[in-house]
Amino acid sequence: MSYVDNIIAGIEKKDAGQPEFLQASKEVLESLRIIADRDSVYEKVGLLERLVEPERIIVFRIPWVDDSGKVQVNRGYRVQYNSAIGPYKGGIRFHPSVNLSIMKFLAFEQTFKNSLTGLPMGGGKGGADFDPKGKSDNEVMRFCQSFINELYRHIGPDTDVPAGDIGVGAREVGFMYGQYKRLVNNFTGTFTGKGIGWGGSLGRTEATGYGLVYIVEEYLNKKGDSFKGKKVTISGSGNVAIFAAQKAASFGATVIAMSDSNGYICHKAGINLDTMKDIKLVKRERISKYVEVHKDAVYTETGKGRVWDVACDIALPCATQNELLLEDAKKLADNNCKIVGEGANMPTTLEATELLLSKGVAFFPGKAANAGGVSTSGLEMSQNSARLSWPFEEVDAKLKNIMAGIFRSMDDAAREYGKEGNFIVGANIAGFKKVAKAMMDQGVV
Ligand code: NDP
Repeated sequence: MSYVDNIIAGIEKKDAGQPEFLQASKEVLESLRIIADRDSVYEKVGLLERLVEPERIIVFRIPWVDDSGKVQVNRGYRVQYNSAIGPYKGGIRFHPSVNLSIMKFLAFEQTFKNSLTGLPMGGGKGGADFDPKGKSDNEVMRFCQSFINELYRHIGPDTDVPAGDIGVGAREVGFMYGQYKRLVNNFTGTFTGKGIGWGGSLGRTEATGYGLVYIVEEYLNKKGDSFKGKKVTISGSGNVAIFAAQKAASFGATVIAMSDSNGYICHKAGINLDTMKDIKLVKRERISKYVEVHKDAVYTETGKGRVWDVACDIALPCATQNELLLEDAKKLADNNCKIVGEGANMPTTLEATELLLSKGVAFFPGKAANAGGVSTSGLEMSQNSARLSWPFEEVDAKLKNIMAGIFRSMDDAAREYGKEGNFIVGANIAGFKKVAKAMMDQGVV
């Protein structure tokens, strides 16, 4: 049995009840097969065994009182996955689906993503099985405060720096940071995604979606092409989806479909982003409201159709994990879609990814394509340390540069290992090499 096969057999046994973690780690391990076969040093120092085991996992109770006076209890997590190249860094997710498998897969992916950015950030992720939907602002605040009452002792500007993710935006980061500051009596850059005026960076809100479009544009430009005139479909209508749509439209593309967990909108004339932002980011309503404003748009409920049914040149899954399935991939390829760029983390299943690759679709994995968010978080940390605040244009220019650098790293790594054009292998190898070197330099820790 090869080294990689041994590691896979080990996690299949040990982490059998963690499907998302197994899916993410197997994908990476398969990519690392070439490199592990070529150099026996990794096996000698037990590097992969260490890599599939998080450094620390914190699981905790979050009691809080709802508006009717009833005590509610949720479960909180922080997975401090790998600190070889910097303090743990990764978002917090509030969603009823949150469990240990999802937290571990996200923290694992984050480790490689952060490495790819070239910034000194380790990998982590956290969250709770709390659903902010339908909760009052006061309930969300009490929940965030209780979450921090435990988490605060495990995080810090040089230890672990959380940020937002699904269900955690500016409002939640504000509530968490406020409670954190109160408990530690210290104004430090322990969170990113903070508000402008209290340590936040301009450009952070837009960064993940913009970064996704920058990396795809970089690829298109290299082929003498661009977003101009392309039809784009995007799943989700949250932070990542909306700003990806905004940047794609500013590059001359037409975004014709977007979704939420209840259904999708198809608007051939191009999605109106002012309406979309008002519905999803301001009023926090269902996407179906869109057709009340734009009568020429069509709404299709989940179960009656999927956003991937809409023919497009470029598809950007920006909602959640495992939302682009084999059938969706077939539909996209049959409809002549040429590019899939993952704004979300692991939105495409392994079978769907393989199908897309086999059909020659250019595929940009999330750990590279959505790294713009954490990159700008890294820039926020730098500004906090220097007590500076850079203008939007400066942050945006740095983001563009970082995304171009990520494209080069994964493109070069894929070429070096004889897998030209396979950005999954390229991203996994490029991200791995830096973390592996740091781990080996630091001994068996
Ligand atoms: P938001 O909470 O802002 O938005 C999530 C969107 O996805 C919403 O439109 C939501 O719909 C939709 N959605 C969630 N679950 C499902 C589902 N099961 N089926 C269909 N739609 C669903 O999250 P973000 O935009 O911040 O994050 C989206 C993805 O991007 C996640 O995978 C996240 O990990 C990843 N990511 C985010 C980064 C960031 O900076 N925010 C950075 C890097 C990655 P509804 O309104 O109905 O809930």
